Amino acid sequence: MVFPYPTYYPNQREIIGFVSQAAAAGKNPVLESPTGSGKTVAVLSALLPVAREKGKRILYLCRTHEQMSRVIEELKRISEREPALGLSLMSRKALCLNEFVREKTRTPGEERFACSVLRREGKCEYHRNAGRARFTFTSPMSAGEIAARCRTVEACPYEVARTLLPSCEVVSCSYLYVFVPEIRSALLRSMELQLNDVILVLDEAHNLPRLAASIAGERLTEFAVTAALREAREHGLKQGGKLLQRLQEFMAANEAEERRIEKEALIKHLEVEPDLLEPLERAGDEIRREKVIAGRRPVSFLHACASFLAYWMECREEEFAFFSSKTTKGLRCLEILPLEPRLITQEPLQQAYLSLHMSGTLTPIQPYCKVIGLEGYVERSFPPPFPEENIIALVDPSVTTLGSLRTREMYRRISRRLESLLPLIPGNVLVFFPSYVVLSSVLNEGVEVEKKLFVEREEMSSVENREMVERFKRAGNAVLMGVQQGRNSEGQDFPGEQARAVIVVGIPYAVKGPKVNAQIEYYRRMYPGVWGSRSLGEYYAYYLPAYRALNQSAGRAHRSIEDKAAIVFLERRVAFDRKVLENISPWIRRAMRRPGNVETELKRFYSSS
Ligand code: SF4
Repeated sequence: MVFPYPTYYPNQREIIGFVSQAAAAGKNPVLESPTGSGKTVAVLSALLPVAREKGKRILYLCRTHEQMSRVIEELKRISEREPALGLSLMSRKALCLNEFVREKTRTPGEERFACSVLRREGKCEYHRNAGRARFTFTSPMSAGEIAARCRTVEACPYEVARTLLPSCEVVSCSYLYVFVPEIRSALLRSMELQLNDVILVLDEAHNLPRLAASIAGERLTEFAVTAALREAREHGLKQGGKLLQRLQEFMAANEAEERRIEKEALIKHLEVEPDLLEPLERAGDEIRREKVIAGRRPVSFLHACASFLAYWMECREEEFAFFSSKTTKGLRCLEILPLEPRLITQEPLQQAYLSLHMSGTLTPIQPYCKVIGLEGYVERSFPPPFPEENIIALVDPSVTTLGSLRTREMYRRISRRLESLLPLIPGNVLVFFPSYVVLSSVLNEGVEVEKKLFVEREEMSSVENREMVERFKRAGNAVLMGVQQGRNSEGQDFPGEQARAVIVVGIPYAVKGPKVNAQIEYYRRMYPGVWGSRSLGEYYAYYLPAYRALNQSAGRAHRSIEDKAAIVFLERRVAFDRKVLENISPWIRRAMRRPGNVETELKRFYSSS
């Protein structure tokens, strides 16, 4: 047994037992357990012996760098008992020391391209130094530690990490390393492995369907087409110029806010010869290469347009939907929306030796497995590890954000409820709304409280948001208002004093429009059946993502076993709509009181500290 601690948290023995048994039976374990149950070390303790016995390696997929480092910290504890090697991998950009790449590139594609040109041309000294750097690798290392050591000898941490990969039993990295085919191939090549040689661990697995959609989706704006046309003219590409002009005309003729279009409509309008696109992509690559050499941002809109059109032609109408729409800034654009997550997920999940899926919000597990194409699995939902006195879930049925009742009077009522509840909660409080529109409508009615107010805004950059969240966490007696399915309700943890309560306003159902309808229609076809008075397809495509987001928001303050926080749902449907209640995570449902006087319950909860 490699479990490194003298005692177990509640559920840890059970998690180890469940995972070990599933692995021994050749099944994929799927488990729901809230954060704070010590899942990371339990899962490593269960899977390392299996990996060693079968000659496999573990790829532990996480969402944030912090989570990846936590995997390595636990591996270090294990290696104090039994030697084990592993490392965490950040993106190239996060590790890169080259000033040009750090400052001039904006997307992972640009980073990769700039790096490859610099390496080929022998223009990156850090790459050259990486070949000469000598590291003793005798215990697990986080990407941060590798980067720190590499900085002292001016060697590229990304390259050095790659050379260490073949010795690793465990690698923690982002989902992109496995679900983006080119990145996966590069990783497996560096590790000298095939997919069948790895055990995948998917932490926060509920994100996978959404991630698959973001990997396979593409968008092209009219701004990019205009810039590409300029590039084509500058480089004397007449045929390409004509093609881009026709593309511009097509986009201009599609004025609608959001409209599903036929894939063939664009192809017919462009009269495009498929073999024209490859030379255009190559010309775009040459432009990008010249820009790298000249020290400019390696972007070519010509390349972007040509590869978008090639992808448009390649995507099958059975599995993709095509749209003409507008960006939030009002720019016309064309979009390719993948309807089938399995196009991205199925190959790695089927070919890996085993895959383990876990999250605090995976219930109901069966739809999750169906949508990602996971077969041969066993599932288990574990009870919360928190002592009963550390969690309470309350429902206030006096308000709702149901579309037909979204009136000024309702927003006013929500703001008054917040004014009544917030003073009863000592310290920091998170409040998550179903959308930015509802958030600003409630704020417009005024929310007067003696707590410092922080408001997440849609247009904030990630740096601005991070700085605001840090200020909130330090404030001690503040309110952070954000949205469900947002960067703070899903990507952030607020343990201990960082949040003493989460108030979840409404339910974040998507606004039904052509894109949402296309997904519903597709899932109806793929998953015939009913869910109450609705179709199963509508449940998978529309209702379930909203419930997962609701649960994610509600769980932000319970991140470790010691956290004591209240969860308050300001929404009538959580109290009285059975289909909503049934989809609340079991660990939250268990802590739920009957709808009643929320103020009295809150006072009792905090006075018992
Ligand atoms: S080789 Fe390393 S340091 Fe050089 S550009 Fe590539 S990632 Fe950056």
